[in-house]
Formats: sequence, C-alpha cells, structure tokens
Amino acid sequence: MTPESGKKRLDWILSPEPALDLDGPGAGLVVGVLALQGDFREHRLMLERLGARTREVRKAADLAGLDGLVIPGGESTTIHKLMGAYDLAGPIKDFAAAGGAVFGTCAGLITVARDTVEGAPPTLGLMDIVARRNAFGRQVRSFEADLEVEGLGPAPIRAVFIRAPWVESAGHCVEVLATCEGRIVAAREGDVLVTAFHPELTDDTRLHELFIHMIRRRQAAAGALEGATAACDAGEPGRAAAAAGHR
Ligand code: GLN
Repeated sequence: MTPESGKKRLDWILSPEPALDLDGPGAGLVVGVLALQGDFREHRLMLERLGARTREVRKAADLAGLDGLVIPGGESTTIHKLMGAYDLAGPIKDFAAAGGAVFGTCAGLITVARDTVEGAPPTLGLMDIVARRNAFGRQVRSFEADLEVEGLGPAPIRAVFIRAPWVESAGHCVEVLATCEGRIVAAREGDVLVTAFHPELTDDTRLHELFIHMIRRRQAAAGALEGATAACDAGEPGRAAAAAGHR
C-alpha cells in the first residue's frame, strides 16, 4: 500500500463516500442531513443507497435547494445548542414552512416536536406532538423490537431504540404509523415524518423510501396536499384520531 492509498483509505474510514444507486427511488433528489452531532453519516449512507444525493447541513446556506432534510439521532440538548451556535433553527423552520420535507429520528423526533414533557430543550415545532425524552428508560433500556409500520407492508421493521423518546400526545392531524408498548413511536404530519427509533442503523430501507415518497408526493401535488392540510386544520378528524396518545 502506498502512502497515498493509505491516506485515501483513512479518509474513507473517517467519512465514507456513499455509493450512489443511480436507479434507486431517490435518484435526482438532494437530501440534506443535519450534521451537527449524532449519526448523520448512517443516514447519508442509506439515502445514497436509495439513489438520492446527500449534503451535510451545518449552516443556513446548506439548506438551499434541498428536497428534504433529515435530523438524525444523537443528543437533543446538544443538537439544540449547536443549532443555536450555527443560527440554524430559524432557517430550518423556514425550510419546513416553505414545504421542505423533514424526517426526524430519535433526538430528531424531539427536535421537530411542538414541545417536550420535560420542557427542555426548546424545539422547532414542526409537528404537533409532545415528546417524552428517555421514555423507555436510559442506556440500559436500549432495545430492539419488531414493529408493524403503517403503509410499509406486512413485514415488520426491526426497530432499534437507544435512550428513545416516545410521543406522549399528538394533535388530530398527526397520523400514527407505529406503536411500541402502546406508545406512539412513528408518525407523520403533512411533510414531516418522525421515528423514535433508528431506521438508519439497520439494512431495512423502507422508512427512508417512505420519506423519499413523501418528498415526491409533495413535489408532484403541492397544491392538492395544501388543500388536504387545510381540511385537517379546519377540524376534520385525522385518520388516526382515535389512536393512543391523541388529545
Ligand atoms: N435520549 C436522547 C435525547 O434526549 C435521544 C437518543 C437518541 O437519539 N438515540 O436527545
């Protein structure tokens, strides 16, 4: 091995360049991954396996032209502090308000929530949910479970929970996609998707494919979707209004 190839190999280990699948369902899309802290690299790998290009987002300018944004798992207080330091909270809210799709996993779920049971850290309010942090217990209660997820077919998802939150309560426009121990752990509202677990840590790409599908649906029928959201806001019962945790 030459010194040059040795260095290349080290670069790859530190930050592997994902292999793009040009025929994948995400081909042609550019999806940002908030890269302040947490497992953003695993999300990039999964999205690129599905054909999307990815961009690590660390400043407001990185959001320009993105089709979607993933907020990864990690530690929500740290992500909040770094979003403050990098002046990113306002631009991410603007991105979502302009119709950009957002996928929050674990700490990302907490970050996009309307609020937390604990009242901290401050959240972005992109989805009408209240998150309970470390709800399943702390590190020792990290666990895996097979969950059926609405819309992903009958085969269960292997869900990896790491100091995971759950959704304590959800507004009537929030569609519950999965529960675990009777608690909401995957949900969708408009163009925002959340999971309390870590789909990027398994080989199952279906939740990222769902996110890509949400982006494409938004782009194909922005007008129709706005109509549907307005109808829900006006008080039409959401499909999952009777599910656990709904106010
Ligand atoms: N417990 C962490 C928090 O409150 C989330 C853990 C995770 O993202 N795996 O931010």
